[in-house]
Amino acid sequence: MIIMMLGAQGTGKGTVAGMLSQELGIPQVSTGDIFRKNIAEQTELGIEANKYMSKGELVPDEITVPMLEDRLNCEDAQKGAILDGFPRTTVQAEKLDEMLEKMGKKVDLVVNLITPKDEIIDRMLTRRVCTNQDCKTTYNTKLHPSKVPGICDKCGAPLKQREDDSDPEAIRKRLEIYEEKTSPLVEYYKAKGILQTEEVSLRVNRMGPDVAKDLSEKLKK
Ligand code: ADP
Ligand code: ZN
Repeated sequence: MIIMMLGAQGTGKGTVAGMLSQELGIPQVSTGDIFRKNIAEQTELGIEANKYMSKGELVPDEITVPMLEDRLNCEDAQKGAILDGFPRTTVQAEKLDEMLEKMGKKVDLVVNLITPKDEIIDRMLTRRVCTNQDCKTTYNTKLHPSKVPGICDKCGAPLKQREDDSDPEAIRKRLEIYEEKTSPLVEYYKAKGILQTEEVSLRVNRMGPDVAKDLSEKLKK
């Protein structure tokens, strides 16, 4: 089963994807995480991707699309995957359809998370991530802080703020790209009849873990 997360930055895509992955036993495939791992390891791909990421721009398709295809061809992704951060443009969505067709697969469900803009910016500024690349658990200093400030509950590694989360210009750029390039995907998948929209916000008192719980119960049936 191929599940895709859609939604702006800070809506909780990573949180929901991580929980669904655990519950359903299929990997979370996050292009942002793969890039960050490559940056931490100083690979050629990482060095190239970081030129764009640090500014909040999209990494070119020549790098991103083959990287995603390789990941989906891995053994552990044969039963399915939770896509988190890909596709981000209509061109990427079409490339994905092509590659899945070759594999005899298709996108089964698109989970579209929506959150009011003021909450989004606040969450991006208060987001902290575990620096251990094999853990990379996400925390939030206001909404769900770690037990010991600055230390990961799960693995004890230090937490840090992502470079692109600490730069207001990069935040602004990413949200602008989302509106312009990624949000048209909502219509793209709605037209295919596989879109499910969920509000994640304090306003409705429903956060990522609530959505993940409901979805995994439904999908396991
Ligand atoms: P966010 O959703 O908060 O921007 P991600 O971890 O999904 O965080 O992505 C971080 C950065 O990685 C993006 O700003 C972009 O530079 C790059 N990136 C991730 N996924 C893609 C993609 N599908 N296409 C192009 N660039 C991507
Ligand atoms: Zn950790």
